[in-house]
Amino acid sequence: SSFSDLALCPVLQTTLKTLGYKKPTPIQAKTIPLVLQGEDLLAEAQTGTGKTASFALPIIEMLSKTPPAPEYRYVRALVLAPTRELAIQVGDSTLEYGRDLGMRVMSIYGGVRVDNQVRKLKRGADILVATPGRLLDLIQQKVISLAHLEFLVLDEADRMLDLGFIEPIKQIMAYAAEPRQTLLFSATADESIEVLADFYLNNPKKVKV
Ligand code: AMP
Repeated sequence: SSFSDLALCPVLQTTLKTLGYKKPTPIQAKTIPLVLQGEDLLAEAQTGTGKTASFALPIIEMLSKTPPAPEYRYVRALVLAPTRELAIQVGDSTLEYGRDLGMRVMSIYGGVRVDNQVRKLKRGADILVATPGRLLDLIQQKVISLAHLEFLVLDEADRMLDLGFIEPIKQIMAYAAEPRQTLLFSATADESIEVLADFYLNNPKKVKV
């Protein structure tokens, strides 16, 4: 298959060409059409499979077709990631994918001062990539609101559970607007992931690579 089969807009096709992506990886070919159709997703995929683009591209495509949020604090798409390293990496990739469409992407994570992150957030972010603890802080400080959230991605969900993030995740999910589209990516799909999926996903399509 090719990216032109995937119903992504011409600007994104050009972006991908510029990045040197010639064709979708297997996870991208499977997930992009489902996300564009509005489905929730339970995807089993390892790092290195192109999983970031498999959620970022269709989310960017869909966000670009509707108006931005009315105020900076309303994030439209949230990607939860287990570590600072992953949050930065996913944020950087998503920024590249969305740059030609003017998507504002930001990463926030703990272990660094919060004031710089707050200042940047006040310029507005369409897509926020965040580790759970720092995000929860900023929600509680009312710097960020998930009241208008349209997309929520749990990236490397198994690692987030391994690192003990179930409580902050539960609290974050309680702030997240409905209806929304929820995508769960995990390298493994054991019992605890199934439980998480049953709780937070709505009739998900299952994808495995
Ligand atoms: P990820 O699994 O999202 O961390 O992606 C792994 C690497 O594959 C990254 O360096 C991406 O830039 C690259 N990549 C993702 N999708 C494609 C594609 N369709 N063609 C070529 N490279 C890709």
